[in-house]
Amino acid sequence: MNNDHKEIRDAFLAYLNDYFSNRDYPRTIAHFGKDITGFGSSKDENTYTYARCKEAFKRDIEAAPEPIHYEIRDLIIKTPKPGVGLLSCELDIETKIHDQTLRFNHLRYTLAFTKHDKRWYIQHKHLSLPSRENDDDEPYPIKELEKRNIALKRMVDEKTEELNASLEKIKVLANSDFLTGIDNRLKIDETLNVLIEQAKKEDRTFSVVLIDIDKFKKINDVYGHLTGDEVIIKTAAFIRDMHKTCISVGRWGGDEFILVFEDKAIDETRLIAEELRETYEQQRFLEDRIITISLGLSQYQKGDTIETIIARCDRAMYEAKKSGRNRVRSAWGKV
Ligand code: GH3
Ligand code: MG
Repeated sequence: MNNDHKEIRDAFLAYLNDYFSNRDYPRTIAHFGKDITGFGSSKDENTYTYARCKEAFKRDIEAAPEPIHYEIRDLIIKTPKPGVGLLSCELDIETKIHDQTLRFNHLRYTLAFTKHDKRWYIQHKHLSLPSRENDDDEPYPIKELEKRNIALKRMVDEKTEELNASLEKIKVLANSDFLTGIDNRLKIDETLNVLIEQAKKEDRTFSVVLIDIDKFKKINDVYGHLTGDEVIIKTAAFIRDMHKTCISVGRWGGDEFILVFEDKAIDETRLIAEELRETYEQQRFLEDRIITISLGLSQYQKGDTIETIIARCDRAMYEAKKSGRNRVRSAWGKV
């Protein structure tokens, strides 16, 4: 191999390394002579200027930035006259896009080099895929990769969207009571935990109201379980509509509901509870029966956990039931 051949081979290898391995746009383009005469594939050889060659490489490297592994076969170099070199070879290339391996074998690569200031520049470049590899007549392989990349990206985006929508549904379901749609116990616990942490750190408070339907077993017994369910659903809707200012409206379980008021002290909450009790009594959820509720409430005290504040609400509720039901009672101090 004469010295020109060696220099052309080295220039070619440096170009492949910058282009395929490093996917380095500025270094790749630096291998091209500014007076380039042609660049592309048999199908797309419409680039004859340096500016368009730059554009094509930029788009190409941005669209498939992962390294492209290559193997060179049958490398032939000819130097028909001083300062001019012709190089041809076959290339096998392979890259990964979204964990999919894409491979093109037997690419025909032909380059013309010219020498300026002791350096070899690519003057002309032609790349083609033998048609036996693909029914589509000799497509430009990087463009093919790009097309597949876009299709894969679209697929991944669609799936991600579906997954996010499902996750959103699951989140709502996981936090709602199955029968009534209002917050379930899990969500109420989460809210209370946040409020307790907030009250500990900042000078803030909150109040909790426990609501229990009076003599609900009787409703089930007299009207049947389904009517009982309806009363629970209507009670939940009633509470939710009355108290849009609540941070949480939830079903604590069975015929018990809970309201959580942020930044409200016990006296203000008692007034709201009293109004709620009175308005509830006026509803006609069943034609021939007045239904009432008992309410037990309390306010956050220093050192409270969910258990201690709920225990005080329970104690207040017990008082409300014991003193005749359809009452509001509050509890303060030690449980
Ligand atoms: P009190 O005034 O003392 O509260 O009397 P009560 O009859 O309401 O007694 P309690 O609150 O202890 O009973 C609640 C009943 O609610 C017990 C259970 O059979 C019934 N229940 C619990 N969950 C459901 C439900 O999802 N649907 C129906 N229909 N009934 C339920
Ligand atoms: Mg009850």
